[in-house]
Amino acid sequence: MSETILVVNAGSSSIKFQLFAIVSPDRLERRLKGQIDGIGTRPRLVAKDANGSRVVDKSWSTEKVGELPDALDQLVLFLREYVGALPVAIGHRVVHGGPNFAAPTVATSNVVQQLERFIPLAPLHQPNNLAPIKIVLERQPQLLQVACFDTAFHRSHPDVADRYAIPEPLFAEGVRRYGFHGLSYEYIAEKLCEVAPKIAHGRVIVAHLGSGASMCALAEGKSVESSMGFTALDGLPMGTRPGQLDPGVVLYLISEKRMSAKETEHFLYHDCGLKGLSGLSNDVRELLASSDPHAKFALDFFAYRIALFTGMLAAALGGIDGFVFTAGIGENAPLIRGIVAERLSWLGVELSDEANEKGETRISRERSPVACYVIPTDEELMIARHTLQILRKNASIELMEKRA
Ligand code: ADP
Repeated sequence: MSETILVVNAGSSSIKFQLFAIVSPDRLERRLKGQIDGIGTRPRLVAKDANGSRVVDKSWSTEKVGELPDALDQLVLFLREYVGALPVAIGHRVVHGGPNFAAPTVATSNVVQQLERFIPLAPLHQPNNLAPIKIVLERQPQLLQVACFDTAFHRSHPDVADRYAIPEPLFAEGVRRYGFHGLSYEYIAEKLCEVAPKIAHGRVIVAHLGSGASMCALAEGKSVESSMGFTALDGLPMGTRPGQLDPGVVLYLISEKRMSAKETEHFLYHDCGLKGLSGLSNDVRELLASSDPHAKFALDFFAYRIALFTGMLAAALGGIDGFVFTAGIGENAPLIRGIVAERLSWLGVELSDEANEKGETRISRERSPVACYVIPTDEELMIARHTLQILRKNASIELMEKRA
């Protein structure tokens, strides 16, 4: 097999990974997609090849694979066995790049130390994202590791979009509107250049509707505003997160319900959103299949909030030329797309029912003033591309140094 790049997305009890072969200097092909989950409880490695055929399904006792380093050992063993060689670089998804990391960065010990400063800004994700980087730095310090940030794409926001109306010192210490899902938006912005080049250079709103959901306003392919802010709790309602909430509600939970900071955090990340609203499920497939009126209400609420945020983002852009649906719900739920589009008819959105039902790339009518698209996102490919770029840059610097 050609040289490969491993993409890693590490969570609290799982490592999701994908392996890309470098088939030519600027072309990548996905070879493997898998995960080790249940780390600490029921560790299990499952991976599929590019055709979707399962190539491994292996479980261990927690004595054998108790923690992240053990899981990484097993991943390395599997890759050696399956591919015959280790990757030439690893690209990591890192949720927070803080105010200054505006592009993917080589993850040296020094960079990791700087990124650890953002743990308080993303306590549930940042430590897990950094853990495998640190382990690889200890074990294979010569292996290129690249950190790709969910926040980086939004660093192009104007100042007014970055601020809260709170005193300056809090802003200076990092209380800002960062925005997330940046790797997804970056991928969509690039893909839109192929799909609809004219629209891609105009004013576009992208709705990333997955279990985490947010929206982004793109002007000429650059992010100028996002529905998410300081944390990934803000903006749209999500599977289990409430989205935009009056901070007074949080004060009420603390003072009247006597909830501690940890309990409030757990409540906001796990018990709200579509799950809290429906009392049934966080999964849109289940809500769509349910005849319970609470399920219908939760979905209507979701679509309503998407339409409200579209208004906000359209104001940031001064109008819109295109609208893109992406991620699990955006790519697969024509009903939700249809309800959102109907609410946006005042803005000039006119869907073709047939194209929407089929999930075609362009789902708006020819005459629709706003062109609407369904574009599957690919954050992992974006990470692999960034990693490849840095790999190439490093290789050419080395070559120049040798020649000098
Ligand atoms: P994440 O990467 O944030 O975990 P995804 O982008 O995979 O999320 O999206 C997960 C969501 O997509 C789930 O809430 C699920 O309900 C929804 N989803 C997946 N497939 C479908 C489908 N066929 N119809 C409706 N919703 C779907």
